[in-house]
Amino acid sequence: MPALLGGLALLAVPAAVLAGAFLFVFYSAALPRWLAGLELYGPYVLFAIGGALGLTFKRGRVLAALIVLLIAYVAQQLWLQHGLIGLRARTIYLALGLFVPLNLGLLAFLPERGTLNRHGAARLGVLAAQAALTAWIIFGGGTGIVDAAYHKFMGPVPISAGHLPQLAILFIALGALAAIAATFLTRSAINASLAGAIVAFAVAAHVVTASTIFSVFIVAAELMVTIGVLQDTFRMAFRDELTGLPSRRALNEQLMALPRTYTIAMLDIDHFKKFNDTYGHDLGDHVLKMVAARIARVGGSGRAFRYGGEEFTVLFPGKSIAETIPFLEALRENVEDYQLALRASDRPKKAKGSKRQRGGWRGKRSVSVTISIGVAERNDRLGTPEEVTQAADRALYRAKEKGRNQVSR
Ligand code: GH3
Ligand code: MG
Ligand code: MG
Repeated sequence: MPALLGGLALLAVPAAVLAGAFLFVFYSAALPRWLAGLELYGPYVLFAIGGALGLTFKRGRVLAALIVLLIAYVAQQLWLQHGLIGLRARTIYLALGLFVPLNLGLLAFLPERGTLNRHGAARLGVLAAQAALTAWIIFGGGTGIVDAAYHKFMGPVPISAGHLPQLAILFIALGALAAIAATFLTRSAINASLAGAIVAFAVAAHVVTASTIFSVFIVAAELMVTIGVLQDTFRMAFRDELTGLPSRRALNEQLMALPRTYTIAMLDIDHFKKFNDTYGHDLGDHVLKMVAARIARVGGSGRAFRYGGEEFTVLFPGKSIAETIPFLEALRENVEDYQLALRASDRPKKAKGSKRQRGGWRGKRSVSVTISIGVAERNDRLGTPEEVTQAADRALYRAKEKGRNQVSR
């Protein structure tokens, strides 16, 4: 359920930008005249801003998406704004209708590999090849291919009403669905923005001869991608990648904004080094994620953070120790009860791993871990968040001393 909500929240941003673009188009007559220039140059301005961010944050996918959108705008300005008559205009329109959603949809599934390197060059190469293919059809007189691609496969309005070839509508639908799927899978705001950019491009392409509206929707698409980079960068700074929990940086900020009463819990997985040695680091990571997911669901309005390594912090703003203990005990039991089933494929290969490692696996069908917890609250002696954190750390140490798998105060 949180995964679903997270994906929807990411998609809400491009949806809002799209709604803004529609409002702008409906009310643009009421805007001052000088904004007309903005409409003409807007796609270049947004390309420059988004491109600068993409370069700074080394987001190759973003740079590629912006280049695709700029190519669409330049092509519209040069060859399409006066109509779709003739082989050249028809071919270019068709190429945009197919390649823009194809490229943006594929970008949603590419790993991020940076900008100014051979991967960046390869992406440019693909775009150049698409341009070359388009030129070859125009100058080679590929009327047959173009007519075939414009064929109407289905009759029902609205898909038979506009200029867009039905093949392009299919590409747009598939591209948008692919990027939406990628958004839910990866929780990346950039993927959400790619989905939105495909839809915005589709609107622009639908009104291809209306230059102003075309440019407004290209600007909207570029804006979505630009916002997407910022959202993803923010997420990287404040979220831990492995567990998805807020990071130490987020914790430090929240420690500065606590109310008068609060309780801090420090949590640490027991004997986790041994777990890694026995079952391998990959399974260790897997367990760490599962434990983090349980800690994130701790009750009592506790906010969970990954403090570092296999250590976590839970903040309880407005709560005393006594109020948090039942929730922490429930969490401790919840982690203890969790059994990770071992599959045959989890076994390390014979070549890897020592005798002891393999011995640890013999006969075991599942593994589990426990956690120790130390708690402290703000009081007259412990006045600052640092002091409360240190006291919670000392309590954690006592929980370990007393035999682990327990809550200490
Ligand atoms: P105890 O806390 O019960 O005293 O014993 P421990 O073995 O857990 O103690 P310690 O804190 O010294 O060891 C932490 C270990 O956690 C070291 C490292 O192998 C493991 N660890 C830390 N971060 C990660 C991680 O991101 N992934 C995995 N797989 N292991 C990690
Ligand atoms: Mg530790
Ligand atoms: Mg530990």
